Amino acid sequence: SNGDPTKEPACFSSVIPGWFSEMSPMWPGEAHSLKVEKVLFQGKSDYQDVIVFKSATYGKVLVLDGVIQLTERDECAYQEMITHLPLCSIPNPKKVLVIGGGDGGVLREVARHASVEHIDMCEIDKMVVDVSKQFFPDVAIGYEDPRVNLVIGDGVAFLKNAAEGSYDAVIVDSSDPIGPAKELFEKPFFQSVARALRPGGVVCTQAESLWLHMDIIEDIVSNCREIFKGSVNYAWTSVPTYPSGVIGFMLCSTEGPDVDFKNPVNSIDESSSKSNGPLKFYNAEIHSAAFCLPSFAKKVIESK
Ligand code: SAM
Repeated sequence: SNGDPTKEPACFSSVIPGWFSEMSPMWPGEAHSLKVEKVLFQGKSDYQDVIVFKSATYGKVLVLDGVIQLTERDECAYQEMITHLPLCSIPNPKKVLVIGGGDGGVLREVARHASVEHIDMCEIDKMVVDVSKQFFPDVAIGYEDPRVNLVIGDGVAFLKNAAEGSYDAVIVDSSDPIGPAKELFEKPFFQSVARALRPGGVVCTQAESLWLHMDIIEDIVSNCREIFKGSVNYAWTSVPTYPSGVIGFMLCSTEGPDVDFKNPVNSIDESSSKSNGPLKFYNAEIHSAAFCLPSFAKKVIESK
């Protein structure tokens, strides 16, 4: 149900009236703002506050617990990179697991890969799925692919019960580690990801911002170096509506056939993915470039 539209949540009024401002202890002292044209949905699920609004310049925006998850204008930069960085790094991915990603955008991108036979997806919050189908049809189109098996539940529990060695790739499209996604950043979760992957299988997880979260990134990198005996890499992309304008990914492979993430082996067959629209962001050059790190980050990440 739509909440009371006359009651303004703090994020709509506390910085500039009529604008949405994103504030969090995860980016203290700064608040990115978007001009609001119309609030389209306000609800409270069992897990989080859910808001959809129409912005003046970025199209519709999905907000969970006060934090922007996607905007129509720049979602391509995130969805395409979190998906094609792992899936273009291995030949013929067949079985893929998506954790989180309730908007369906990662599904839309996985579906471009003709080799994929089965996609499991575990999202904790059904309201995110429903709201996305209602307000973001070009993103939620991913749910229409017949290879998708959607499970509503906690990704941590899902992975604990997953069959050993069963996936070619796992994509963790999570929100920030404050709230329901907390455990998706912790060591036991990465251990169960490694267990669920086949030898030489790959994982790509949302891994926050180089400008804001080097401490979180350091922890993720050192956990991953212990757990994943193949390769361990950090990559990043530019997403203007994420805090600091960039977001990173942790890409790892399990012991087995070598995975050289920096040199994609697999291209996307555009003809098999026409119904999902053209790629807007990803290409082979930007794939390799995504692994080039600024010196301050390179030093820290390579020393772990
Ligand atoms: N795909 C998006 C984009 O374009 O930026 C952003 C993130 S997506 C909406 C993050 C999802 O992770 C949310 O729908 C949230 O409900 C889900 N999530 C959080 N914790 C989870 C958990 N423990 N298990 C499964 N899903 C979880």
